[in-house]
Amino acid sequence: MAHAISVAKYGGPEVLEYKDVAVGEPGPGQVKMTQTAIGVNFIDVYHRTGLYQQPSMPFIPGSEGAGTVTALGAGVTTLKVGDRVAYAGSGGGYSTERLMAADRVVKIPDGVDDKTAAAMMLQGMTVRYLLRRTYKVGPGTTLLWHAAAGGVGQIACQWAKHLGATIIATAGGPEKCAIAKAAGATHVIDYKTENFVARVKEITGGKMCDVVYDSIGKDTFPASLDCLKPLGLFVSFGNASGPIDAFNLGILAAKGSLYVTRPSLAAYTSTRADLEETANDLFDVVKKGIVKINIFKAYPLKDAAQVHRDLEGRKTTGSIVMVP
Ligand code: NDP
Repeated sequence: MAHAISVAKYGGPEVLEYKDVAVGEPGPGQVKMTQTAIGVNFIDVYHRTGLYQQPSMPFIPGSEGAGTVTALGAGVTTLKVGDRVAYAGSGGGYSTERLMAADRVVKIPDGVDDKTAAAMMLQGMTVRYLLRRTYKVGPGTTLLWHAAAGGVGQIACQWAKHLGATIIATAGGPEKCAIAKAAGATHVIDYKTENFVARVKEITGGKMCDVVYDSIGKDTFPASLDCLKPLGLFVSFGNASGPIDAFNLGILAAKGSLYVTRPSLAAYTSTRADLEETANDLFDVVKKGIVKINIFKAYPLKDAAQVHRDLEGRKTTGSIVMVP
């Protein structure tokens, strides 16, 4: 019998219940996998609270994992039993075993262990599209990245440094600022105690940033817009403090003809070709040691509620995994 974390109603971490589940056999185009490591992401919190609604209840949260293929459904020719695979973006991850669409998993290359794969697929592919596609970051780019000691944040600092950007990073508290700096940030701002707009102005000599990557949402809006140059790009890719309320688009004109986008990993990896290109680029930087995946802790799956308390309580840094 497989085990999973099930949610029967939206709410706090206490709604995450450890249960026995029947997984069944793979249908056409699917594979069954035994998961060896399960990635934990802030989006799992949005799913649990209902900020991002589920199609039906109860549901198994979790959008990322790694493991071994144990059975193939009809028509699956690209994988075989025993392959090590990983995925990001398909719900139902908090489970010891699961079914997956074969075309949404990728093979884990040699040299990348399962825990690292489970920790990096969602956050790493997110960083890849944000830095390489949403805005083409390069040596001339000055960017602001909030929550830079977090899972996505540490990967972003390392990758953006490799691309040659000037990285202004924010984080909550001196320890987290030190972590962001060690990950490659050029400048760090403790946004718990410092006014980040004033500090960005000071650091850039008044020129401000080409692009702001904001996953905080409510608490950093609209101040994040004030960190941009005229014609700069505001990338709102998360809501750790709550969603940004509707606002008058005129504010974008007033602050310098700014651009705004609200991207998602799902849209950037919707085709098999995009998924493979994104995953391969990520595997490449990890295998070359350009990006190191820092795993804060590997928790037992049955402790999912504690994991959520730690993540929402801003107690974690880097990536988090759970093990069955
Ligand atoms: P993190 O490890 O970054 O954890 C969230 C961090 O946000 C905290 O550690 C904290 O850092 C900061 N934070 C600021 N305000 C709050 C608050 N009120 N409550 C909780 N945390 C707060 O998580 P992830 O790496 O998993 O994800 C980072 C962000 O990226 C999330 O917002 C997530 O939704 C988003 N994301 C978006 C994707 C997309 O495609 N659009 C895909 C993947 C992630 P500090 O203490 O330093 O402020």
